[in-house]
Amino acid sequence: RAKEHGKGRTVLFDASLREAILIRSRLQRDLTPSLEAGDIFLVYQPIVSLPDGRLTGFEALVRWRHPDLGLVSPAQFIPIAEETGQILPLGRHVLERAVEQLGRWRRMAGGAALTVNVNLSARQMWDERYVDDMLDYLADGRADGLKIEVTESMTVADHDQARTILERFHALGVALCMDDFGTGYSSLSHLGSLPFDVMKIDKSFVSALGSDPRQESLLRGIVELAHRIGLKVVAEGVETEEERAVLTGIGCDYAQGYLFARPLSVADAEALLSTAA
Ligand code: C2E
Ligand code: MG
Ligand code: MG
Ligand code: MG
Repeated sequence: RAKEHGKGRTVLFDASLREAILIRSRLQRDLTPSLEAGDIFLVYQPIVSLPDGRLTGFEALVRWRHPDLGLVSPAQFIPIAEETGQILPLGRHVLERAVEQLGRWRRMAGGAALTVNVNLSARQMWDERYVDDMLDYLADGRADGLKIEVTESMTVADHDQARTILERFHALGVALCMDDFGTGYSSLSHLGSLPFDVMKIDKSFVSALGSDPRQESLLRGIVELAHRIGLKVVAEGVETEEERAVLTGIGCDYAQGYLFARPLSVADAEALLSTAA
């Protein structure tokens, strides 16, 4: 019986593994056609100031509506696109759509100071020609109000090259955010030596609030540290009023999360923008 049971489990495991591999190769194959067909688009999640909850801008987040599989999470397809190099055209598409949207919003009533954050993969930073092309595209005032988000992992691979590239974005007036702070490598030293403007504290820190008083002290220390070196702080993944109250109390500048709004379609973001104006 045990053997039968074990055998059954093996078959099940093989089947789901095979399925995972099939889906993966499917996503890889369908990504480029979907990009061309317009099935890959952006949603925009509000970033608000604390404590007043005023809208300051949005983070652009990519979405893929697959013709057969439905909505596929970026957590699933971005890593594949990074491995295959498809992140290069995909990332360029994201940048252009976000910058066009930002330009339209900044021309709307009340939108003049609006900002839009775009996530960049490390892979988009290591090809010099690609970086040159992005910077060319952003010249001529297109960069006004743009922020880019990069993860800590990008800054540890090659510190000097990271600094050179980040400084080139900075020179265009693009603000630089360290995304998912606290999740990956310990890069406190990089924070001081790279030209970041904003630290985005990962959701895991925010969710841990309330479980142990030391978590709050830790977060307070991180916020103080960031402020001391001239960074603004955004808390990610804020879901409850309690979290909002604690974050406000420890001096966090901005917040993003389901408590305020989910990532929104362009139409919903625009509706919000017109009430905020
Ligand atoms: P991220 O840049 O850290 O984005 C924040 C993620 O947290 C988003 O997931 C957002 O929908 C989610 N989120 C926001 N508020 C809450 C909350 O209150 N609770 C919870 N549980 N989640 C919340 P999403 O959109 O699924 O994106 C996942 C990741 O995929 C992003 O993490 C980012 O690393 C990557 N990504 C998304 N769009 C792009 C893109 O255009 N380019 C690149 N390179 N990566 C992207
Ligand atoms: Mg991000
Ligand atoms: Mg993040
Ligand atoms: Mg993340």
